[in-house]
Parts: sequence; C-alpha cells; structure tokens
Amino acid sequence: MQMLSSLVTKVPLEEEVVEASLNQLKQSKDITNFIKQHKLSKDEVIAALPTFLYFMEYATINKMMEPRLRLTQNRIVEIDTVESEYARSFRNQKQASHRLSLYYLPEVMKTATFNDWDPEEMRASVPLMKAMQFQKDFCNGKASKGLYITGSFGVGKTHLLAAIANGVTRSGFTVALCFWPEVISYLKTHFDEAYDYMQKLKDVDLLLIDDIGSESITNFTRDDIFLPLMQHRMNFQKATCFSSNLTQEQLLTHFSLTANGEDKIRAKRIVERIGSQAEEVLMKGRNRR
Ligand code: ADP
Ligand code: MG
Repeated sequence: MQMLSSLVTKVPLEEEVVEASLNQLKQSKDITNFIKQHKLSKDEVIAALPTFLYFMEYATINKMMEPRLRLTQNRIVEIDTVESEYARSFRNQKQASHRLSLYYLPEVMKTATFNDWDPEEMRASVPLMKAMQFQKDFCNGKASKGLYITGSFGVGKTHLLAAIANGVTRSGFTVALCFWPEVISYLKTHFDEAYDYMQKLKDVDLLLIDDIGSESITNFTRDDIFLPLMQHRMNFQKATCFSSNLTQEQLLTHFSLTANGEDKIRAKRIVERIGSQAEEVLMKGRNRR
C-alpha cells in the first residue's frame, strides 16, 4: 500500500469552483458512500475536495493500481492504493503463459481463446462445445479422456487446441502444445536428448499433440517415442488431446507403414491407445487460411 495524500496539491478554492466540485463528487458512488459512512461535515468534505477529485481521476492516471479512501484519526481523507483487477489479471495471464510450453508453434497461439469464435458459430459446432466442456471438466479435475479433433486443413484445429491450452493454464495447470511432425524430426536427429525431451511431455498435466499423422514414421519414432509416451500418459491417467487431418481409422494405415514394411499389429496397438484416451470429433467448416 502506498499513501498518496502527500502528492495532492492543496490550493484555496473559489466558492463557485467549490460548489461545482461538490456536485461533481456526486457522480462517484464510492465518494458519496464514504461521506455517508464517516458522517463527514460539509467543511470536512470541502477540505478533502482535492483528494476526492484526485480519487475520481485516478483510474485514468494509473490502470495498474486502484485507489481506496481512508479517514485518518484526525479525520483527514487520504488515498491508499492496492493492485487493480486489471493488474491482477495481467499478472495472472503472464504467469499462465509460463505454464504453457509451445513446441514449434507460433507464440501467437498463446493468445487464442474460445472468444475468438462467434457465439452463434460456437453453439452450432460440436467440436467447439466439446472442447469447452473438456476444458471445464479438466480444470475441475473431472476429465481424463481427451479429444481427438479431426478435420481438413485450415478449419481451425490447431487454434482450438490452443484455446483449450490457454484456458487450462489460467487454472494453474502445466500444458504442452506440440506440433508433432517437428517434434519427430527433431528427435530423429537428437537421439541423445530424446529421454529428457520426452520426460517433459510425459509429465505435463495436459498434453496437446497437434497434427498427428503428418509426421514421417520410423520404428524408432513409433515404437520408442510415441508408444511409451501414450502408455505413460494412460498409466498415470493424464489427459491428452490430438488434432489430425486423418481419422483414427486412417491413422491405422499411417502407423502401419515404416521403411521396414507393413506392421499392422503395432499400428493397431498405438491407435487403440489413442482411441482409449481421446474421443474422436469431426471439425467441419471453411478454410480460414
Ligand atoms: P488447422 O489446424 O485446422 O489447419 P488452424 O487452427 O491453423 O487450422 O487455423 C487456420 C488459420 O485460421 C490460423 O491462422 C488460425 O490462427 C486462424 N483461426 C482459426 N480459428 C480461428 C478463430 N476462431 N478466430 C481467428 N482465427 C482463427
Ligand atoms: Mg493445424
């Protein structure tokens, strides 16, 4: 708390200026309530006029602090300041953005929210309603099954995952949103980092895997990277969401084919893990690019 009365200039006031100022004070509920609550006499109000006027202007001077009126033991009106609602939400948002790790996605994804959709469009869209419900349930500790958003290029799948991510971080959870093809190409060339790298993805409260099915498959990325990740998240009941241009059925073919030939059994094991952890939802709409 900081005392501001010392900053307020005390100058003698003309009578009509006083009357006009007293009228002006009536616009502020805080001031009229304060005068009533402390039963200030007219002389006391006049003596405090500069402080009251400063109080009324305060919001336009400093958005980060909020003024509070206080009466001293000598019945002098003073202003204390506390952190404003605006500053609090600004600080929370900054802290929340530290809880969200983006892997190969633009920083602008940190600002996506459900407010980016028109409310009409939102009500008509099953994936949007499901995503909002998922976010709510997750934040209340109720959701362990995630979503698998499938749909064509540009309909807003990544944006939707980002909106879920941002809502969840604001409730204090850690989240990773990964552009999967890039994660895979990085790991293919950095075997020695794979353990630590994957540990982070295993442990976050919510993992969002963007664009699964666009990565190129090798036995290493499928059986040593992706499968243990899914197994870990399943064992620890940690929610995972996906986006993909492919349906889960099409994903089966994708995971079947490696340079070593066709392997339907392993592919099936993986897609079953995904299916048991995430509900498939089709996202339709125009291409927003
Ligand atoms: P997809 O992942 O399905 O290919 P994106 O999520 O990348 O689609 O969306 C395509 C583009 O449209 C991106 O630039 C994205 O930020 C933007 N976009 C998607 N949904 C919205 C929205 N509701 N409001 C504003 N921009 C959006
Ligand atoms: Mg995308």
